[in-house]
Amino acid sequence: YLIEDPKYSFLKELGLEKKNPGVFHGKWTASGETIQSYSPASGKVIAEVQAGTPADYEQCAAAAQAAWHSWAEIPAPARGEVVRQIGDALREKLQPLGQLVSLEMGKILPEAIGEVVEYIHVCDLALGLSRTLPGSIIPSERPGHVLLEKWNPLGVIGIITAFNFPVAVFGWNSAIAMICGDASVWKPSETTSLVAVAVTKIVESVLQKNNIPTAIASLCVGGKTIGEQLVKDERMKLVSFTGSTAVGQQVGVEVQRRFGRHLLELGGNNAIIVNEDANLDLLLSAALFACAGTAGQRCTTTRRLLIHKKVYSQVVSRLTKAFAGVVSKIGDPLLPETLIGPLHTPAAVENYKRTVAEVVKAGGKIEFGGKVIEREGYFVEPTIVTGLPHDSPLVKSECFAPIVYCIEVPDLDTGIQYNNEVEQGLSSSLFTENLGDVFKWIGPHGSDCGIVNVNIPTNGAEVGGAFGGEKATGGGRECGSDSWKNYMRRSTVTINYSGAIKLAQNIKFGD
Ligand code: NAD
Repeated sequence: YLIEDPKYSFLKELGLEKKNPGVFHGKWTASGETIQSYSPASGKVIAEVQAGTPADYEQCAAAAQAAWHSWAEIPAPARGEVVRQIGDALREKLQPLGQLVSLEMGKILPEAIGEVVEYIHVCDLALGLSRTLPGSIIPSERPGHVLLEKWNPLGVIGIITAFNFPVAVFGWNSAIAMICGDASVWKPSETTSLVAVAVTKIVESVLQKNNIPTAIASLCVGGKTIGEQLVKDERMKLVSFTGSTAVGQQVGVEVQRRFGRHLLELGGNNAIIVNEDANLDLLLSAALFACAGTAGQRCTTTRRLLIHKKVYSQVVSRLTKAFAGVVSKIGDPLLPETLIGPLHTPAAVENYKRTVAEVVKAGGKIEFGGKVIEREGYFVEPTIVTGLPHDSPLVKSECFAPIVYCIEVPDLDTGIQYNNEVEQGLSSSLFTENLGDVFKWIGPHGSDCGIVNVNIPTNGAEVGGAFGGEKATGGGRECGSDSWKNYMRRSTVTINYSGAIKLAQNIKFGD
């Protein structure tokens, strides 16, 4: 167990033990199977987490529901103060929590710390929002009437998260939901359960200090069975689901069946269009991070480069050189010199191998990479593919690994057409110096994605904007802008102080 190695003393700083209960509903418990948490960089066991059973989940949902009532009665600015303190508690644990994310998920330390910083930023955003949550007053057509909108909390929400952002995605949901007055039950990815336990302990400590019932931030570690139970649970007024499109589609249908609300953040198949006038130095620097960074395990990773024919050969050859330059920097994600860590699981490595084999079978050329790296852990080479048609089924699907397809395009219009022809609609970027093309790109006939960038990578969003995508990415929006509306219900209120009944549209009914 790595937790016994003094090199990983940060695990103890987070209150983790060799065996950790993975269920929290005001107290820590669990009676399900034991999950061994592995470091993808070495394949070694870090520590164990005991998952929840359906009965444990039931206790989480009941406790969150019971705790919700008093939380909803606290004024929003006071809830904001609690969230501010959560941000401060995260600041105190920034290093150890970042180190744990790096160890358990496998992303490099600066990105892992960045993920915790993202949660802190959302706490800041939520704090401001807690004092400015709007509600409108609308002119009424009837004299002596007031027409207004009142927003109230939803109640308890369920949060199901993916392995690749084990802190930030929970933070995006939790911080905003908390200031909105909701309680939550979190079902994290079973392969990042130590992170979930550590984060929940941080939130618990702040709630406890403020005498808030801690079950408002309940946790139930588990797999598909617990996820399905949560999705079907009528008490979960909103199910916020982050994960693959295949699972998300089932989740959406199940939640709709009971007329619950869902917020879906699903897979992406993101493209960068390289215009003929693009600044290629900018592009190369952005593309290296966007295609190979995080070992291709971001929902916003660039999977397709749609390159104008005039610069195609130059871009492919320069990108190949750039990829060659980072191969020596693949390794232990906790080391400062590392730029690319491992894939998350052996299954992800198999998926990468299978995709590379299919690329070759389909007539694609591996310009760079294509191999599993022979060392302990789950490492693969970042890979550049050319020679596949834009509409090949391989190009149109999301393989969650560092594989990028380079495709030649004759002009911007064709680039936009290819950008939009995949089923997913998460992120996109155009590299150009042409102002007219920028406005075409962001206009009605431009990118159909939720995130439409210019001269920056497809990945690495800030918290102030609404995050999410269209089409098979699920349509959900989280984090900034008006995403808070997902976590509240709106009442349209008409108050009559005129002393007489007047019908709208001046309808006369009887006398
Ligand atoms: P996944 O779909 O395998 O799992 C996601 C979560 O769903 C896990 O917690 C899992 O236990 C749970 N789950 C599995 N089956 C379920 C079921 N039937 N009912 C309810 N829950 C169930 O995804 P993953 O491999 O963890 O993550 C990678 C995927 O997530 C990629 O497709 C990536 O693009 C996507 N992702 C999207 C965003 C976004 O914001 N759009 C962010 C991160 C990841």
